[in-house]
Amino acid sequence: MFGHINKLIRVNLTESRIFTENLDRYDLKEYIGGSGLAAKIIFDELDPSVDPLSPENILLFMTGPLTGTASPSCGRYCVCTKSPLTGLWAESHAAGFWGPELKFSGYDGIVIKGRSDSPVYLSIIDGKIELRNASKLWGADTYQTEKYLKDELKDQSLKVASIGQAGENGVLFASIMNDSGRAAGRCGVGTVMGSKNLKAIAVRGTKINVIPAARDEMLKEFLRRIYVTIRSHPTAQIYSSYGTDGIMTMMHEYGDVPIKYFNKGSWTEGIEKISGEAMAKSILKKQWACYRCIIACGRHITGDESGTREEGSGPEYETCASLGALCLNDDLNIIASGNELCNRYGMDTISSGSMIAFAMECYEKHLISKENTEGIALEWGNGDAIINTLHQIGKTKGFGEILAKGVKRAAKEIDKEAEEFALHVKGLEIPMHDPRAFKGLGLQYATSHRGACHLRGLVYHIEQGERIPDLGIHKRYERFTTDDKAFPVIAVQNWHDIMDSLIMCKFAFLPPASVLSMLNMVAGWDMRLDEFLKVGERTYNLKRVFNITCGATKSDDTLPKRFLEEPLNDGGSKGQIVELELMLKKYYEERGWTEKGIPKEEKLKELDLSFTIPRLNN
Ligand code: SF4
Repeated sequence: MFGHINKLIRVNLTESRIFTENLDRYDLKEYIGGSGLAAKIIFDELDPSVDPLSPENILLFMTGPLTGTASPSCGRYCVCTKSPLTGLWAESHAAGFWGPELKFSGYDGIVIKGRSDSPVYLSIIDGKIELRNASKLWGADTYQTEKYLKDELKDQSLKVASIGQAGENGVLFASIMNDSGRAAGRCGVGTVMGSKNLKAIAVRGTKINVIPAARDEMLKEFLRRIYVTIRSHPTAQIYSSYGTDGIMTMMHEYGDVPIKYFNKGSWTEGIEKISGEAMAKSILKKQWACYRCIIACGRHITGDESGTREEGSGPEYETCASLGALCLNDDLNIIASGNELCNRYGMDTISSGSMIAFAMECYEKHLISKENTEGIALEWGNGDAIINTLHQIGKTKGFGEILAKGVKRAAKEIDKEAEEFALHVKGLEIPMHDPRAFKGLGLQYATSHRGACHLRGLVYHIEQGERIPDLGIHKRYERFTTDDKAFPVIAVQNWHDIMDSLIMCKFAFLPPASVLSMLNMVAGWDMRLDEFLKVGERTYNLKRVFNITCGATKSDDTLPKRFLEEPLNDGGSKGQIVELELMLKKYYEERGWTEKGIPKEEKLKELDLSFTIPRLNN
């Protein structure tokens, strides 16, 4: 088969057993691959009541049919599991080269169950799969792990996905890192990997360097044309020139950048110092691109003069906002050093920055003091406090032991009042976009299957005027309106679920029909656009049903009080709150869900998800 390799690796760590199977038994056209296919496997095989950190939880590493092909911006992979942070569906996607290399080594994905007695790593080289002793590596950071395995296996082209100390220590927002700085960051997927005593997965395929397409010549010609489309998108141009942090100034104008833990709407003097333009003038060394990406949004930055930071992977927008504006820190060097620390420990920069900003607000409100923090003065903008607290979290030492549990649990341990301003949805800390600036984004945060997430439905692009005719989005949707947001939010959520099944980077802003053409050329399919778009609705509903079986209810589809009741006093979104209930009601109706947010039987049948109905009725 073209596109898919058609082989899945199965690993049982408890029994040290490995076998492979082909993908024939899954209808690839129903779920495509990536997180869509992972959702089907998890629904079929995982008891939704399991403790996410028990051996019974399943951890999947998946690629898609476009991964490793000549298609642009398709170098990603995803990790899916039940999240220890939210207790619900988890998926986290990482860029770089690891995904294509897994396919070059001969496999589409890996399904991991059980728990090893002692630390191990998985090596997959040219089809040969082995579990190897990783005891020496336990305690190493992710950069050290990558280097060690390249040396041990004598191949500097090896690609390594690993956890750092955060995943070993049970930090509930631990990430899985690859390519020295690329992260599957969200939902605690690294925590699940650590709970299985699995330190790393090293992959290498030396026989091929691109997955062939069924209609190769046609694809080559097609790619020449879509490169122009990708390069000409205004946001892609900003990402290319200044990295994702290039949007910092523009988003600040909207009142979208979260400042002082979403308490302020304007901070011009600070934003100027942490923007992508500021990075270009100071610590930037060169651009960095994932496998066959012509945008190259990655930033490679200089080391720190004092030697506390190595030259290497630079911070993204989300990190510049979370370790910067959110904490009222305008020092780009602190952000860059904090970014490297998060990468090395292997922990999500969004959640890490959020935990520090939350702690700073607790400190300001005298809910905690230096006695709690082992002497760290958690004052707004204190760079040393940011760095020292990151160390505490990564090591789960001192106050870090509480912060490592994520904001929902930490707030409970600190004080009742802290629970009032602990910002999360379903237990996942909020990304660096204020939903009061884009009301549709508020609906997206409230309904996203992994908790507060901007990437499972980048609807704020629509609220900035972007149109996607293939999805029926023909008109401009104003950012502060609420009565018309259900439709575009659903359309973009479904579309992004398809992209996460393919798996393709969302920064290649291609029309859905073009992406479908590419898929058909690669896989040799003749899928129609309506069938293609239905895949997204199917996988979205399947993940929803999984969450319901895990115990999620309508009451989880909500936002923190700060966004629902507390307007900002300044900035581009001054005076705004999110009127969620009205949007949510329409959203459920348009989704074909009940008033309680449960997919109706006729909707599930229409989507070929009848097999989920008995589980819902249980
Ligand atoms: S746009 Fe950035 S994240 Fe996306 S594939 Fe390209 S380099 Fe990677």
